[in-house]
Amino acid sequence: MKVAFIGLGNMGAPMAANLVKAGHDVTGYDTVARPEGIALAGSAAEAAAGADVVLTMLPNGAILRAVAAEVIPAMQPGAVLLDCSTVDVDSARAVAAEAGAAGLMAVDAPVSGGVGGAAAGTLTFMAGGSDAAFARVKPLFDAMGARAVHCGPSGNGQAAKICNNMILGVTMIATCEAFALADKLGLDRQAMFDVVSTSSGQSWSMTAYCPAPGVGPTSPADNGYRPGFAAELMLKDLMLSQQAAETADADTPMGAAAAELYRRFVEDEGGRGRDFSAMLPRFEARGFRKAGP
Ligand code: NAD
Repeated sequence: MKVAFIGLGNMGAPMAANLVKAGHDVTGYDTVARPEGIALAGSAAEAAAGADVVLTMLPNGAILRAVAAEVIPAMQPGAVLLDCSTVDVDSARAVAAEAGAAGLMAVDAPVSGGVGGAAAGTLTFMAGGSDAAFARVKPLFDAMGARAVHCGPSGNGQAAKICNNMILGVTMIATCEAFALADKLGLDRQAMFDVVSTSSGQSWSMTAYCPAPGVGPTSPADNGYRPGFAAELMLKDLMLSQQAAETADADTPMGAAAAELYRRFVEDEGGRGRDFSAMLPRFEARGFRKAGP
């Protein structure tokens, strides 16, 4: 397929490289990045002209809306606008409506798997859009990822992503605060892992991404909490879930608490640039009566 790839950053560049490797005809555009091995156009509209699929991998919804406004008039009838960024549900649905009004198809398909999954071609895509649009871009998902789940109409991919990551943020915090409590009760961390990972408190945060160094499978905790999945990216997703909860009038007190804890961690407590599991040393340094450093 002829693919225009807009946004060649940490995720976009390796994803585009996997499309090239799979034999697709890729033309890229980025305002800053110039990755090797990908043919580049002089503008997003130039890349989009004549493409079967315009794939965007951009920082946020405002930038997505601006890029969509530029590329939609340049796209050929019947082409698909495929956004793989993580953005707010409202922006995903607004961009899909604009594409539809212009005779185009649209799919929102945020990913999980991070930079490692992007490079290895093992991402999971959570897709929203029509059956026809999903079928059209499925070969691209196959080239860039291991799994693509069709979650329903436009916006539902973003909805699935932020709901999943809201659970992840909450369970990571719960796992970290429980480890810090266990420490103070004199419970060995290995014993804590052995019990919880096989009991009703288990979650992906404990069993696959254990925040305690030297315990469980190898994780960013074993690498000085270098990301992995950076705390500021978790904060972004938690803020999107809170924005969506407000718009949809949903009651999400645990999501709200997780968003506030990660906001303080990133903005005031040195968490920026650290893995999101570095919540464990944060809790270790604090107490029930004393807020800690
Ligand atoms: P990034 O900042 O490395 O890349 C974004 C790229 O977009 C940059 O190269 C930037 O120059 C480019 N860009 C910005 N405005 C542009 C414009 N108007 N036109 C063209 N290019 C423009 O970010 P990333 O880590 O690659 O993440 C991209 C998206 O994927 C984000 O929405 C992020 O939330 C999501 N995501 C990231 C990860 C991760 O682990 N990094 C995991 C899952 C999802």
